[in-house]
Amino acid sequence: MARTDPPAAAPVPGGSAAASADPGESGRAARVVAPDPRAGDDDRGLRPATFDEFVGQARVVQNLRTWIAAARAASRTLDHTLFTGPPGLGKTTLAHLVAGALGARLVATSGPILERPADLAGLLTKIGAGEVLFIDEVHRLRTNVEEYLYSAMEDFRIDVSIDEGPYARSVSIPLQRFTLIGATTRAGLLSKPFRDRFGIQERLVPYAPEELVAVLERSAGVLGLPIERDAARVIAERARGTPRIANRFLARVRDVAQAGGATRIARGDADRGLRMLGVDAEGLDDLDRRILAILAEAPSQAVGLKTLAVATGEEEGTIEDVYEPYLIVRGFVRKTARGRVLGPRGYDLLGLERAREPEQGALFS
Ligand code: ADP
Repeated sequence: MARTDPPAAAPVPGGSAAASADPGESGRAARVVAPDPRAGDDDRGLRPATFDEFVGQARVVQNLRTWIAAARAASRTLDHTLFTGPPGLGKTTLAHLVAGALGARLVATSGPILERPADLAGLLTKIGAGEVLFIDEVHRLRTNVEEYLYSAMEDFRIDVSIDEGPYARSVSIPLQRFTLIGATTRAGLLSKPFRDRFGIQERLVPYAPEELVAVLERSAGVLGLPIERDAARVIAERARGTPRIANRFLARVRDVAQAGGATRIARGDADRGLRMLGVDAEGLDDLDRRILAILAEAPSQAVGLKTLAVATGEEEGTIEDVYEPYLIVRGFVRKTARGRVLGPRGYDLLGLERAREPEQGALFS
């Protein structure tokens, strides 16, 4: 049983980032719009520290305040909570805010880090009464680890096997009552028994441009360089409804302003900075444009996700989670049962005549 693995999680005192690992991301250049905290600036300083500083998601925040107030009033542990929604919308931030509002310590880890039930057992036995265990990318937990969580979530007990071979036996260890907060970009990948064990489930939605303007104005204040409304609006409109992307753009636009000796961020800085990042007026970056070009090459046939991944050199999951949702919502891409095709706005953007519906099966899958 002796192990030398790195620790599966680190306690996070108020407001710092979750430990996270994604082997697929290593060694690859950061994409401009990738809302991945590891792909660019460390935005921890920009993370709202209280619910009052958290912009938007009004229904979710209102609900959480109520569930937390009720739990506190009755001296109960908050029910296990699941946050779902695209990357960069504030799931991790909310987990920290919930822990803060409960006055509880938060221990952060992520699905891929927890390789074996023993990793999870090590964590759970160290969680104190009322504390929060935050598991990011909870859809990436291995099945045996996920199933191991069931009894911890429901009965606050885990079974640990001691010894091996003929002496192996299992002992049931009681845990302190804790709150599990899971975050996932792919709620559909969670098994029903797992999902059902989260008493609170909240879905985050993309932010309206005005909300992102508010995020940017606050972030600019934190960065120490005020931003003009016009400049914030330009960035907000191209940030795909995602605060993390807005903040990442802001950091570079701030650099452009500061490099020019400015003491505030003006519209011209935003235009220039976004141009330097390769972000066009529609908020699309190089990879988006490559996806559209690939679809345009096969105008009468649907293209499968695998083909897109190979042709762009990006992971299937990233294309599905990060790129496609925006391209689809904005009408640049359409997803059919057979695969992806250019959407009406995709044709317009590329200056192509709209093609007829694909009739054959997918070109590739
Ligand atoms: P997720 O866990 O959903 O990927 P995060 O919680 O890590 O997203 O949020 C990414 C960053 O975006 C945070 O560090 C914070 O700076 C910013 N952010 C997210 N949501 C908000 C919000 N509602 N108000 C202000 N800033 C936000």
